[in-house]
Amino acid sequence: METRSARTLVLDVPGWDGHDAGQHVDVRLTAPDGYTAQRSYSIASAATADELEITVQKVSGGEVSPYLVETAAVGDEFELRGPVGGWFRWRAVDDGPISLIGGGSGIVPLMAMIRAREQAGAMTPFHLTYSARTPDHLFYAHELYRAAEADPNLQVVYAFTRAGIASDIRRPGRLTSNDIAAIAGSNGAPARTFICGPNGFVESATQLLLDAGHAASSIRTERFGPSGG
Ligand SMILES: Cc1cc2nc3c(=O)[nH]c(=O)nc-3n(C[C@H](O)[C@H](O)[C@H](O)COP(=O)(O)OP(=O)(O)OC[C@H]3O[C@@H](n4cnc5c(N)ncnc54)[C@H](O)[C@@H]3O)c2cc1C
Repeated sequence: METRSARTLVLDVPGWDGHDAGQHVDVRLTAPDGYTAQRSYSIASAATADELEITVQKVSGGEVSPYLVETAAVGDEFELRGPVGGWFRWRAVDDGPISLIGGGSGIVPLMAMIRAREQAGAMTPFHLTYSARTPDHLFYAHELYRAAEADPNLQVVYAFTRAGIASDIRRPGRLTSNDIAAIAGSNGAPARTFICGPNGFVESATQLLLDAGHAASSIRTERFGPSGG
């Protein structure tokens, strides 16, 4: 469990040819009566040989996510299609600095990028702005903390929407122009910004970046909204 309502599943995929950070898979479940349901999940793991990780946030009343978070057990088999996605991905040869902006479970493909960067030994400056309700809602909290402590080229900034930690200077709330202004920081303007999260989050973060003068061509987005769009 990453939080009380989100779980990482490690999938053994024989013959997996690898993937790029940022890509996703389509997971298809089939009930005993033949009914099927398919949903997309970002790959959380860096490219490794035969194991894939996905992290699923339970959506109350949802068809697939409650099953994956609460019921799926070791040994279960799913159908997978992928890797999918050629636009929202990062490779170690790409220009930096890179800015990552994640809201809620939108952290998942961004974490894959952070892990891929570490796996490649790349020094590309990364700046992550991670918006979550409270510290209890953070995925990968210890790993992110340790990675940022160990690497001055990886900056991680938390933007809590409901309640932060006592020492926070930032008041809890949605992303503002102040959060966007902090991205350039010591590294200068990002060559590319990846934004991922619910539809509304992605739209408002994109607008804040455009208002701050970032080029539209430098922004790549992935939306996790109900429409899957
Ligand atoms: C490219 C892509 C990557 C994705 N990666 C991830 C990931 O890494 N981790 C993850 O947890 N999810 C991810 N999602 C979202 C995921 O595909 C499902 O939409 C989500 O798990 C809900 O499915 P469900 O069957 O439980 O809900 P559904 O049965 O589809 O929907 C139930 C109810 O919840 C609403 N709803 C559906 N999805 C959401 C949502 N995301 N937020 C709020 N309300 C919703 C619906 O409108 C409906 O009212 C991704 C989506 C896309 C398009």
